[in-house]
Amino acid sequence: MNKITEIDPQTAAEQVVPMLDEISPTMCMAKWLWSSIHLTNGLTNSCFLPPLHKIDAEAVKKNPRALHNTPEKKQQRAMMLKGEQPDGCSSCWRVEAQGKQLSDRAYRSSEPWAQQGWEDVIDTGADGDIDPTYLEVNFNHACNLACSYCSPHLSSKWAEDINANGPYPTKVPHNSIDYFKSIGHYPIPNREENPYVEAFWKWWPDLYPKLKHFRMTGGEPLMDKNTFRVLDYVVDNGRKDLNMSITSNASVPEKNWNRFVDTVSFITEYDKLESFRLFVSVDGWGEQAEYMRDPLDFDVLWRNVNNYLNRTKDGLVTFIVTLNMLSMPSIKKLMEGILELQRIHNVTKTRRDDNGKLIFYGIHRVYVDTPALHFPAWQSLKVLPKEFWHYGDECLEFMKANPDKNRESRWVGFKPHQIARFSRSLDFMKQGFSSLEEEVEAQGNFVRFFEAYDKRRGLDFHATFPELGPYYNKWKARL
Ligand code: SF4
Repeated sequence: MNKITEIDPQTAAEQVVPMLDEISPTMCMAKWLWSSIHLTNGLTNSCFLPPLHKIDAEAVKKNPRALHNTPEKKQQRAMMLKGEQPDGCSSCWRVEAQGKQLSDRAYRSSEPWAQQGWEDVIDTGADGDIDPTYLEVNFNHACNLACSYCSPHLSSKWAEDINANGPYPTKVPHNSIDYFKSIGHYPIPNREENPYVEAFWKWWPDLYPKLKHFRMTGGEPLMDKNTFRVLDYVVDNGRKDLNMSITSNASVPEKNWNRFVDTVSFITEYDKLESFRLFVSVDGWGEQAEYMRDPLDFDVLWRNVNNYLNRTKDGLVTFIVTLNMLSMPSIKKLMEGILELQRIHNVTKTRRDDNGKLIFYGIHRVYVDTPALHFPAWQSLKVLPKEFWHYGDECLEFMKANPDKNRESRWVGFKPHQIARFSRSLDFMKQGFSSLEEEVEAQGNFVRFFEAYDKRRGLDFHATFPELGPYYNKWKARL
């Protein structure tokens, strides 16, 4: 097979389409090689777009590869090999039916982890078991934060709130633990045996050498012993072609943080991995960020990120900014802060060239991604009144005015795809709700939720977001 050599994602995706077509017109490498496995509750999907489905707890006891190779995925793989379209991949089929742009199927299949496993996919076919080359897992839902848009099956802190006070009084009660239990999404309690985590560790020695990307999410992964077991494994079994990452709130207890930075500092110092990336979740600046990610201490987060960047050799950071309505008043300030971190950390050394002239070297170490929050709809950008859209427009202008130009900008600035992502999120905001009824319901739920949130968490919406107060009061008066 011809390998894709193009590193520009758009060109690579265009190049891969005829290669996929040689197999079938609906072929997608992600169905075999990309996996998200929720070890907390035994759910999986490939890729991240189709709905999660249950993993058979008995099957994984006999065969740990059943964590990824479920009967449902095998059925979808068989359909793809025959040129049929599995329902779960509808988001790709919709894009392809419009005929205007390539779907995720082309982008995913052209990425290096997909190229690496191409022959394995052909050999495996529909019925065999395959090890993914791109894997995301979460071991535990333990978390010390309970962010406004999160839920009790993903955060133990949220579960404490719901256990103490019940679901939130939105029109349809929000974040009911009984609901998550009824759909099989609630985690297995830590005190009980978890067949999925056990199967993962049985699989790990065979899986580890195949991986190209491995990402640990949560809960908060730095509060879980399995995360440190993985990192310790890397210390003893380096893999120079593996990209490892972790998604963290960067505000865990100091003991956990220090252990993490000590270990990653060793891993990066001795080149045990191709790269290590810390994804940091934060959605605004200062006390507004603290309100959204209760009970975050923003200064601790910022100090920790600096500490990680100072202590790890070429350790990478990507800020995951889940844009919701409350992000917008401080979004530009957050982008300014990210640029400042780039100024401090992206230029890594200065040397003399052959003519004795000082020349500096750098790499991109600090990145940002700005997906829009879709659920719950009443915290999404669509709830933000038009009067405040200028926050987003000003931030977009700021990003455009500070483009990344590699050495010329000392590796400081925003890349075109980062600017495009932010711009797409603003488009989503400006699309608004599909009906006035939906909009009014979202505004009502916004007030119902944050009234209770303030009471339960000891917070003060009006003091934190004074600019939004008049709208809040108007929506409240209508209830
Ligand atoms: S076809 Fe699309 S939705 Fe389905 S696995 Fe591939 S990228 Fe994901």
